[in-house]
Amino acid sequence: MALVIIGTGLAGYNLAREWRKLNPTDELVIITRDDGRNYSKPMLSTGYTKGKTADQLAMQTAAQMAEQLKADIRTFASVSAIDATAKTITVDGAVLAYDKLVLALGADPFQPPLAGDGLARVYTVNDLLDYAKFQQAAAGKKNVIVIGGGLIGCEYANDLSNGGYSVQLIEPVGRVLPALLPTMASHAVGSALEGLGVTFHFGVSVQAVYNEGEGVRAVLSDGKEISGDIVLSAIGLRPRIALAKEAGLTVNRGVVVNRLLATSQPDIYALGDCAEVDGLVLPYVLPLMAGARALAKTLSGQASPISYAAMPVQVKTPVCPVVVAPAFPHMQGEWLLDAQDGNSVKALYKNSDGVLLGFALTGTFAGDAALKAELGKLVPAWLV
Ligand SMILES: Cc1cc2nc3c(=O)[nH]c(=O)nc-3n(C[C@H](O)[C@H](O)[C@H](O)COP(=O)(O)OP(=O)(O)OC[C@H]3O[C@@H](n4cnc5c(N)ncnc54)[C@H](O)[C@@H]3O)c2cc1C
Repeated sequence: MALVIIGTGLAGYNLAREWRKLNPTDELVIITRDDGRNYSKPMLSTGYTKGKTADQLAMQTAAQMAEQLKADIRTFASVSAIDATAKTITVDGAVLAYDKLVLALGADPFQPPLAGDGLARVYTVNDLLDYAKFQQAAAGKKNVIVIGGGLIGCEYANDLSNGGYSVQLIEPVGRVLPALLPTMASHAVGSALEGLGVTFHFGVSVQAVYNEGEGVRAVLSDGKEISGDIVLSAIGLRPRIALAKEAGLTVNRGVVVNRLLATSQPDIYALGDCAEVDGLVLPYVLPLMAGARALAKTLSGQASPISYAAMPVQVKTPVCPVVVAPAFPHMQGEWLLDAQDGNSVKALYKNSDGVLLGFALTGTFAGDAALKAELGKLVPAWLV
């Protein structure tokens, strides 16, 4: 049986590891358009705090992974088409056959629609190669404009501040982490970041970025102009669905898969940031690890439908740590402040019957392992 995996991110490599345990001798081909180094993507937003370069964040080269996984890993190779009927893919113009194919394609950073001549100084960091480029561009600079106050924007704001940069952050909603946290918890994180020196521009978006000397001038939607050396955009991710869509697979926000992570076409599966599992797009590590374990079994002949316990998300803002079991749109309830001590907030999301559906902890509450475990047991599973 030849298994072909597209992608060497955490989804692709975790699946390869789990599958290899069950299939010691079968053929495994892994294709990636990047350099195939094995790294932990969440570490990208801790690089300045820990003083790590991209090379230091890389744990193994593609060659080391190939040896470990007994796999043929093809780097800087781009898959441009899938023929689900012939069961082939096109890789840099050559045709490759598969028995089973797994899409572990990840997600693209959303590009803000910006005007201006300074776009070459606007960076996104969503993989190790991006990180290397950003570090090179930011070397010797002092002021970073961060677009977006979500999880990734806040983590980078904290990390860059720790690295000695002066950070200005723009967030159209009037508070940080608006999609994840209730207002009181957002304020706790925002004020802790302010204490670190981060300047916020809330309620506005960036309209244009112009070159100004060696740096940039950003024009905000209220007409205000701010200056910086370089821009880091972190306004969200979009699952990579184009390849699947062109091949006739069902796509929605992500590549649509069922509980077996099977797409609408036989013998093609999807996992990780690119996948929409039973209606859920969960661009986090724990869901993809659970998916990798289940899919390895399914691909080995033991059909294993996925289920997700609640998997609280940690936001790596060490100045004010956050743990949140978010409230999903289908969960009707309201956020209630349960306890607060300065920037330490405990908020509970409950329905009208008082049933706990989610929680948000900041500061010392986020570091309380017993509290996290207790609440974690009470919140309902995400996918039963
Ligand atoms: C800064 C940052 C911090 C994060 N922190 C956390 C955290 O603390 N906790 C948490 O749970 N999650 C965190 N996340 C999210 C988590 O890292 C991702 O959910 C996870 O790494 C996604 O892995 P993936 O393998 O699905 O995608 P990727 O890592 O994006 O891998 C996609 C792969 O597909 C390949 N590829 C794509 N298209 C093609 C093609 N056409 N041909 C060939 N190859 C292709 C790429 O080369 C790449 O190898 C963070 C994300 C970021 C950016």
